[in-house]
Amino acid sequence: MHKDIATPIRTKEILKKYGFSFKKSLGQNFLIDPNILRKITEYAGLTEKSGSIEVGPGIGALTEHLARNSKKVLSFEIDQRLLPILQDTLSPYDNVKIVNEDILKADVKQVIEEEFEGIEDIMVVANLPYYVTTPIIMKLLSDKIPLRGIVVMLQKEVADRISAKPGTKEYGSLSIAIQYYTQAETVMVVPKTVFMPQPNVDSAVIRLTTREKPAVDVIDEEFFFQVTRASFAQRRKTILNNLTSQLPDGKSKKEVILGSLEKAGIEPTRRGETLSLDEFARISNELHPHFK
Ligand code: SAM
Repeated sequence: MHKDIATPIRTKEILKKYGFSFKKSLGQNFLIDPNILRKITEYAGLTEKSGSIEVGPGIGALTEHLARNSKKVLSFEIDQRLLPILQDTLSPYDNVKIVNEDILKADVKQVIEEEFEGIEDIMVVANLPYYVTTPIIMKLLSDKIPLRGIVVMLQKEVADRISAKPGTKEYGSLSIAIQYYTQAETVMVVPKTVFMPQPNVDSAVIRLTTREKPAVDVIDEEFFFQVTRASFAQRRKTILNNLTSQLPDGKSKKEVILGSLEKAGIEPTRRGETLSLDEFARISNELHPHFK
């Protein structure tokens, strides 16, 4: 096996050789601890039949662990300066394809069809750029890419919100959007010292396991998410007040909203943070004919 890219000494050597300077605006905090990388890879449960999708390979620290444990790795990297470095550091591996694209603009489904022919087990595994963690996860989930799951490093504060349960202060529309598609758990809290340079915030690894079908039955997914976002617009307000102030023409439809809450069996004085996914589904299904 080749020497790990992610030791502090080797990382420094590579950065020096190429005169690479970190771009904070691209969330460039590279991992320099092979043990953490091994653990992330283990949480993903990869086999020699798996296809791994990585967002932001950097200089290839995680990429090589994925290459060793998957059939093929597809890595999206926005920073062109990293391409010659990756060509060098990943030269021992013939199963890695680097795509120089912004993951948020890429047609991931299309690239998977082209690159992952015959691969059924697909995982996203990444140390995400922290300035865009939520949009990236939401894109991957809502694009309906056939993923078994997602194992990613991100800000601990966002990890807490993603895996939060009703009744906690972290629970909100992000928890609901992600738990609608997946089972979410925080599997590891990570110290700042495993990064170069060290980020300002604490980090954690989450594992999202795609559900066979969404957690609840809704008539209209987009409207369900609209209702959940509206319900948390002002956390201290009741569900009735948030819905009347946030839904289109909500104020003039207050009676309709009250009737729908009653039919859904929800007290209008409750707050969004107390409501389960199932209760939100009932509310949005009752409201749907009146707003769509
Ligand atoms: N995987 C490497 C590691 O763990 O050492 C680097 C992780 S670093 C936190 C995030 C990486 O994502 C950087 O290489 C950065 O250039 C890249 N990146 C930032 N925004 C991106 C985007 N929109 N699409 C693809 N890659 C992006």
